[in-house]
Amino acid sequence: MHNPAQPLDLRQRIVGHDQLVPLLDGSLVSYVNLDNAASTPALQDAMDAVTRLLPYYASVHRGTGFKSRLCTVAYDQAHEIIGHFVGADLRTNTVIFGKNTTEAINKLSFRLPAQPDQVIITTQLEHHSNDLPWRARFPVVHVRALPDGRLDEDDFDRALASYAGQIALVAVTGASNVSGFIQPIHRLAAKAHAAGARILVDAAQLAPHRRVDMRPDNDPEHLDFVVLSAHKMYAPFGAGALIGPKDVFLHSAPEYPGGGTVDVVTLDEVHWAGVPDREEAGSPNVVGAVAMAAAAQALAKVGMDAVAAHEQELLAYAIERMLAVPGIQIYGETDPARLDEKVGVIPFNLTGVSHFLLAAILGYEGGIGVRSGCFCAHPYVVHLLQLDEHSAHTWRDQLLSGDKSHMPGMVRASFGCYSHADDIDRLVAMLQRVAAGDYQGDYRLNRATGEYLPANYVEPLAEYFLLR
Ligand code: PMP
Repeated sequence: MHNPAQPLDLRQRIVGHDQLVPLLDGSLVSYVNLDNAASTPALQDAMDAVTRLLPYYASVHRGTGFKSRLCTVAYDQAHEIIGHFVGADLRTNTVIFGKNTTEAINKLSFRLPAQPDQVIITTQLEHHSNDLPWRARFPVVHVRALPDGRLDEDDFDRALASYAGQIALVAVTGASNVSGFIQPIHRLAAKAHAAGARILVDAAQLAPHRRVDMRPDNDPEHLDFVVLSAHKMYAPFGAGALIGPKDVFLHSAPEYPGGGTVDVVTLDEVHWAGVPDREEAGSPNVVGAVAMAAAAQALAKVGMDAVAAHEQELLAYAIERMLAVPGIQIYGETDPARLDEKVGVIPFNLTGVSHFLLAAILGYEGGIGVRSGCFCAHPYVVHLLQLDEHSAHTWRDQLLSGDKSHMPGMVRASFGCYSHADDIDRLVAMLQRVAAGDYQGDYRLNRATGEYLPANYVEPLAEYFLLR
């Protein structure tokens, strides 16, 4: 078995993996990034692809020079590589590059063929990006979460039965960016299909951690649509992708018409191009797409099963060590026997310490990057915190009047394929210190933002990187 103390050999290939950063007391430590559920650092493979491509960078598709021809082929290959990365049948499916998961889901919300009386079924576990785009254009049914944060599959079944034949789409996350719970996406797909619906899997949080396989189109467990963000899979160069059936896009006009989306235009007529061109209006992000494809290839080469196995061991180690910190509360699953139901995301709180303050101390005094708050999933976080309606009302009112100081939330530690047992040890050591009240900064709350900032500290950002 893989030893979690030994990082997968990907760690050496993470740009900035040994980067020193300053602490509040002026000392330097190597940065521990436990905020991978927000964004991952770049893999050297993605950066190398960019560096190798840039000397040849030129316009794609319509340029006739060598560089344009090369970039066109590279861009086409990127579509193919991302399609294969998620197991899509590219004879019937298309890969549409955009800027991220949020844009991809918004695009689908515009392009999905639907009747006026149809609903979207989504869940309480979703990131806002797989909820609000649907709410903007459809009636939305939210399937409940169980008290422990898992999907209530009985409620899912009930929703499908109530709306069977009237469902424009089932839209579920592959893995939660808050609790890490992995959804039984293929089982849900079979149920959605049996109810006459297609399914979208928001794989932003799943794809960097587990193999995503859309499976053959005629498989009842086939995933109809998958969306991804490159910045969550080690290629932060501004690309994302929507993968789905060509026919969905071929029968109507794109939501963003413009250059590149057409075959012929007269003053009176427009003939739309095929896919994906019709859906990628304007000059595309060739560099981002190529970087995303290079990262996907690197992950595939290491093997997503190896990535998952490494992460599982790390998760078990982290939860065991974190549970020993006095006053800690970890949300979601902590039973070692059931940790394979989640990816490496651990939401927690320390009794008596605001999540905002704890995250600040970890950053300023531990050199540890985490995130705190509600992680763009307010309904789910409120549910996991078991807040009653009264307190939820109170903080919402305070927040709307500009005071975030009582905003509920959690701290989230999230791993990447390059994370290491030492990273966990650094986190646990800091948590133990904070639990014992052993920290130095005099943190002042900014009520408008909820942030805690150490008093009298000027961060030496210009010594590291600033544009001026
Ligand atoms: N869905 C999930 C599950 C996510 O984790 C994220 C990003 N945290 C998103 C959607 C949105 O992704 P992006 O910000 O790249 O659009």
